[in-house]
Amino acid sequence: MSVRAILDIKGRAVATIAPDATLAQAARLLAEKKIGALVVAAPANGISGIISERDIVRALAGQRERALASPVSEFMTRKVVTCTVDDTVTDLMQRMSAGRFRHVPVIEHGRLAGIVSIGDVVKYRVAEMERESEALRDYIRTA
Ligand code: AMP
Repeated sequence: MSVRAILDIKGRAVATIAPDATLAQAARLLAEKKIGALVVAAPANGISGIISERDIVRALAGQRERALASPVSEFMTRKVVTCTVDDTVTDLMQRMSAGRFRHVPVIEHGRLAGIVSIGDVVKYRVAEMERESEALRDYIRTA
C-alpha cells in the first residue's frame, strides 16, 4: 500500500510557517491546529525545514523565555527526510523508526503535496488489519 492511499483519506493540506516567524508563533499554531509539527516554508512551495513540538521543548529547556522570541529557523531541522506518494507505507514506517521522528512531508513534482504523521500511519494500519480480518472471517464462513 502506498502513501497516496493515506493522503486520499486525510487530504493534502499541510500546516506551514515562515522561517522568520517566532517560536512563540509556531507554538501557538501547533496548539490551535492540534498537531505536532509544521513544515517551514521555502519559496515555490518548497521546504526549508521542519519544526516539531520536540524542537520547541528543547529550545525552551536550553534558552528559556528568550527562545520564544527567536526565529523558527534557529531551531528547525534543516535536513528533512521526505517521501513520495508512490512510497509504500512500510517504507515510511521504517524511515520514521530509523530517524526517530513522527512526521514525513510528501513531495510530488518537486512540491510539497502533503504530510504523513505516525498517527496517520497507525490509523491506516488498524483499518487495514480490520479489513483483512473481516475478509478472513468471510472466507471461513463461506468455506
Ligand atoms: P517529531 O518526532 O516529528 O516530533 O520530531 C523529532 C525531531 O525530528 C525534531 O527535531 C524534528 O525537527 C525532527 N524531524 C521531524 N520530522 C522530520 C523529518 N521528516 N526529517 C528530518 N527530521 C525530522
